[in-house]
Amino acid sequence: AALAQPGIRGLRAYDPGLDLVALRRAAGAGGLVELGSNENGLGPSPAARAALIACLDSLHRYPDPLGGDLKRALAAHHGLGVERFLLGNGSHELLMMLAQVFAGPGLEVLASRYGFAVYALAAQAAGATLRLAEPNPAGHAMPRGHDLVALAAAVGPATRLVYLANPNNPTGTWFPTADLAAFLARIPADVLVVVDEAYLEYVTDPYLVSAAGLLDRHPNLVVTRTFSKAYALAGLRVGYLMAAPGLVAVMERVRESFNVNGPGLAACEAALGDAPHLARVRRENAGEREALADALQARELAVAPSQTNFLLVDFGREAGPVEAGLVARGVVPRPMGGYGLATCLRLTVGSRDENRRLLQALDEVLA
Ligand code: PMP
Repeated sequence: AALAQPGIRGLRAYDPGLDLVALRRAAGAGGLVELGSNENGLGPSPAARAALIACLDSLHRYPDPLGGDLKRALAAHHGLGVERFLLGNGSHELLMMLAQVFAGPGLEVLASRYGFAVYALAAQAAGATLRLAEPNPAGHAMPRGHDLVALAAAVGPATRLVYLANPNNPTGTWFPTADLAAFLARIPADVLVVVDEAYLEYVTDPYLVSAAGLLDRHPNLVVTRTFSKAYALAGLRVGYLMAAPGLVAVMERVRESFNVNGPGLAACEAALGDAPHLARVRRENAGEREALADALQARELAVAPSQTNFLLVDFGREAGPVEAGLVARGVVPRPMGGYGLATCLRLTVGSRDENRRLLQALDEVLA
């Protein structure tokens, strides 16, 4: 480790926590209820599956290094020029690349406490200084969510990047698009504002729409999206960002030529074309999200408001034993100790049957 550059020395490798592969193998007939990674158990569009299968005869070929077909489909989908799009091996890769390209030693990256963990990792791996703004206080309508006023106040002369997620993971909280517009008006033009919209497809609040509509007015705005969540293609690792063409062009200089695999390109293009499937995913998630939040609140648990496919639940005491009890009953939540939220668990909204099994296990554990 002493040989690593200073930013890397303090980092730890990703710890998946539980051995999911072993747990799946050990799970009984009902299978494991996996609610730890905000995946979409409804699965991808059948069109995406068909497109993937059609790739099987060309696995010996390198994929299109430009991802042209998918980018053109995305450009049409968002009503933006194709030169505004950059594809990534998941949006995670793009979040890392942003810090690599625009931050570095002597420069600052700003995020919010309880922002998505990759922001801190990206800043540190780039050798930049990470600065955290305090989140909304307890009692706020969006507890632990991004405090845009605090974030704007924390921008200093060395700040180059601000990462925020809307809605945010792990809190599930969000802010209206109008608040983002006001925030952007207060941020200097040489500070990039990265709005991570990994869960945007799940949003039902009409006051929150994609920040992509603000790109024309703000050349320092970057919007990231993913096919891992509502499109249910996490296994293929495809994400994208939308930004000013000049910003995309400079990031292209460090992009690995074949960073997005061929089956991923084809399946995502097909998934994008299946609007009815996405509509079904959104509808089912919204219904189950509300029902699950109600059921948890009926058990006197503190549930943060959410516009995503997960809920952050505060047990008011160390949640480790609750997690262990759930896992012992074949239900996998996500512990939040890594975020400094040891009394919380994050629970993906599952199918009606999965949520029933979750609540049954929870009732046993909390009895
Ligand atoms: N942003 C947020 C807020 C996330 O929750 C996730 C996945 N957990 C990602 C980005 C990364 O997703 P992916 O790399 O699969 O696109």
